[in-house]
Amino acid sequence: MIGFFPKLYKDETLYSWLARYHIRSNNSSYKSTLSDLFMKDTIVAITDFPCNLQTLCTEIGDMYKPRYLINQHTPLPYYSPFIKRGNYEKIIDLMESTNKNRVYAVLGLPAGNVPYPRHLRYCATCFIEDVNQYGEPYWHRIHQIPGVHICPHHLEILSESSVLSKRTVSNQKFHALSESINSPIHRNNLYSDKENEVLEVVALNSLKLLQEEINPIGLPNLRNYYISKLHDKELMTATSRIKFQELLPRFINFYGKNTLKLFGSNLNIDDKDTWLHRLLRKPKSSCHPIRHILFNTFLGDDIFSYKNINIKTPYYQPFGDSPFPCLNRASEHFLKDVISTVNITICSSTKQPVGTFKCNCGFVFSRRGPDLSKEDRYKVGSVKQFGEVWLEKVEELYNDGLNYSEIARQLKSNRATIKKYLFNENQKMKQHSNDYKHKSYKAKWSNLIVRNPDLSRTKLREQLPSVYMWLYRNDREWLLTNMPPKQKGCNKDINKVSWETRDYELAKKIELEAESLKKINNDGIVRVTVRSIGRELGVISMLENEIEKLPECKLMLAKVTETLKDFQLRRIKFRAKNLRDMGIEITPSKLIRNSALSTKIDGDILNSIEEEIYTPKN
Ligand SMILES: [Zn+2]
Ligand SMILES: [Zn+2]
Repeated sequence: MIGFFPKLYKDETLYSWLARYHIRSNNSSYKSTLSDLFMKDTIVAITDFPCNLQTLCTEIGDMYKPRYLINQHTPLPYYSPFIKRGNYEKIIDLMESTNKNRVYAVLGLPAGNVPYPRHLRYCATCFIEDVNQYGEPYWHRIHQIPGVHICPHHLEILSESSVLSKRTVSNQKFHALSESINSPIHRNNLYSDKENEVLEVVALNSLKLLQEEINPIGLPNLRNYYISKLHDKELMTATSRIKFQELLPRFINFYGKNTLKLFGSNLNIDDKDTWLHRLLRKPKSSCHPIRHILFNTFLGDDIFSYKNINIKTPYYQPFGDSPFPCLNRASEHFLKDVISTVNITICSSTKQPVGTFKCNCGFVFSRRGPDLSKEDRYKVGSVKQFGEVWLEKVEELYNDGLNYSEIARQLKSNRATIKKYLFNENQKMKQHSNDYKHKSYKAKWSNLIVRNPDLSRTKLREQLPSVYMWLYRNDREWLLTNMPPKQKGCNKDINKVSWETRDYELAKKIELEAESLKKINNDGIVRVTVRSIGRELGVISMLENEIEKLPECKLMLAKVTETLKDFQLRRIKFRAKNLRDMGIEITPSKLIRNSALSTKIDGDILNSIEEEIYTPKN
């Protein structure tokens, strides 16, 4: 352990401190100083991000902690707000406990970036003041920061030493400022007023970055912050695109091309992929701090604004955050935030954003944006679609005896709209009843033919004139294929053949109908009986009264109809599946109640109930 070690001066670089130690140590070579400090003589003297700091701190008796050295005496705080969050801890780790000189790689600043100062620099006035105060000058951290050309304390142009600051040089020498410069040289300030103004702003902001020690903000958060600022400056389009065509000229004009060149951040007005584009697009890599400073200054902010970034600052959203409230008054979730997305388009005349909100209840509405207050969130511009829930409510109110105006008042709609929708519903009802009539007339007609195989077309027509006329007008095609063949006189053989044919054909229909009855999977589940089949086919009385003339049908009916027990078993399975689908736990009592079984239950039925409950189903 080293017995004596000099104290660090304010904002002194670690390199400067180690150089001063070397002078005091009376070591004959830098190599032996390095092995004193780092227990290794292969370490190089690094001017900005030295590594192996844990070893160093141990060797000097824990006079300082590595974190303290990093935050107070290396340039990391200058970079840290703008680097990827995960990389910050990696860099700390590299500097504390490795000797890998990889910090720049992890900082993630793309190549072709802001130039790094070639030599170590100093401020002549700081030099003199430090000699007066401490008896010796030292290398200041702020003077080595890229983009800082002026001392923020004295607003004096920095002077260059002959000590190379290039981090790539494998250098084992430490050069103290006192050894490098005998008497400080004040440099003339040849910059224009405008340039000086920006140089000062950059130097002061850089100093604040070093002092404030802001943790990484996160690249997406930084972008969100800039986007919301651009929105305030009206540099965003209504669809949340950056107006680069306006932004670029304004930015260049704000600084002037020559000033931007001083910071290696020149911009070309016609370029589509400048550093400014990369700074503001969805970020893949970090951007140099100097560019953040320049852009933030352009936005009218300083470094302190970075400390106050609300991590949740959203992208510019003309209708705010999702989910959005459903504004359907007929719905139970009225005003609740249930709509997850908004579709934004641009109004062609006003160029303002229009949001269309689509709710699962069928209600679709739009509103012109942007929303300017919280209340705007609950405003309907126009209704695009009312949907089922709304229509049902209108009907319900109408059936409750409310008139159009009263319904309109309750749903905050207008009388004409309510009337229109009720009328449309009425039309639908008519359509529905037409469908019903169609079905029943066809059944009546088929029934008539089957029961009267001997009747001619004319006679049949006389039996059911209105049915015939209706079918003739509305479904002539069907009617013509469901006519007996044209007769020329009466023929017993034809009669006989037609009975046989009909028996055979009807038996087929019975089989199909029984199958389709068993497929019913809603609450209309019915037992397959002679009556239920007859009802569906419109031939009840024939199946009941003339079955002896139809031997095929008789056989088929015996085969497909269900006994009460068959039906109960089928119904238990059906109800059990229903309960399972609804996620309801099945118990014997629930199943019995749902299957409408009487209290006297057959043993087979009980077995079936148990099977439904205790056998796992997919
Ligand atoms: Zn100074
Ligand atoms: Zn809704």
